[in-house]
Amino acid sequence: MKIETLPVDQKLALKNDGALEMFWIGVGSAASKKHAQSNFLIIKGDAHVLVDFGAVGPLALLQTARLLPTDIRNLLPTHSHADHIGGVEELFLTWRYSSVKRGGPKPTCIINEHYQEVLWDRSLRGGLEWNEEAGRGQLLSFTDYCNVVRPTWKTQQPREIWTIDFEGIRLDLFRTKHVPDNAADWQSSFVSFGLMIDGRILVSGDTRFDRDLLDLYADRAEVIFHDVQFFSGAVHTPLSDLKTLPPKWKEKMHLYHYADNYETQDIAGFAGWTRQGVRYLF
Ligand SMILES: [Zn+2]
Repeated sequence: MKIETLPVDQKLALKNDGALEMFWIGVGSAASKKHAQSNFLIIKGDAHVLVDFGAVGPLALLQTARLLPTDIRNLLPTHSHADHIGGVEELFLTWRYSSVKRGGPKPTCIINEHYQEVLWDRSLRGGLEWNEEAGRGQLLSFTDYCNVVRPTWKTQQPREIWTIDFEGIRLDLFRTKHVPDNAADWQSSFVSFGLMIDGRILVSGDTRFDRDLLDLYADRAEVIFHDVQFFSGAVHTPLSDLKTLPPKWKEKMHLYHYADNYETQDIAGFAGWTRQGVRYLF
């Protein structure tokens, strides 16, 4: 793995020579005021996917990658918290009124049918369905804003996994155990996903401590990006639990979704804090 910084006068290119690349526009917790919210780009060859776009996402995208929402063509939302989808209304509106209404192609969303319904009905609809056609009784729907690309259902056990080869990037989307804090397992948790990218890079997604998930993927992952929080309970993974993991996993584990007091934490034995605004090349 190589890390490259982006020159300050340069936009992030959304294509490369074919290497698998990740670029985190934010690495902080939902309430982070220092390092934005944990959203990232995957880039490989001519393909790119933005995974999540939180409430401060538009600003973080501009400040780290020097890009505008209209530069992004493909979105994969993992779950409905505002630090992951709070910027999607702006993304959809700028897509629609800067290009689609002028006859340009629609951008793409990677999402399964169930989560599309949840995302639209419980989060996005309020701000997006009323529009210039509403007076004539035509309300907009999710697919007025984007083309939908469906991942394929792969398995239900040991947990629900969906898979897609998106323009050469293989994504396995697995359910996580995120909310509520007392859910017994992933089945009884609200829909949320983590990712295995090209069978090499594990991104835990928002999750409580979930040893079963790591047993499933950690050995074969070259690099792990893992959710972290600095106290027990609640809906993310306590650092104290991650410290109990085998050294062979910790040493390839980069922590993300961290609160602003991260510098006071001892993370000896881990690969480090995930860095905002740098190019990770694999
Ligand atoms: Zn969350």
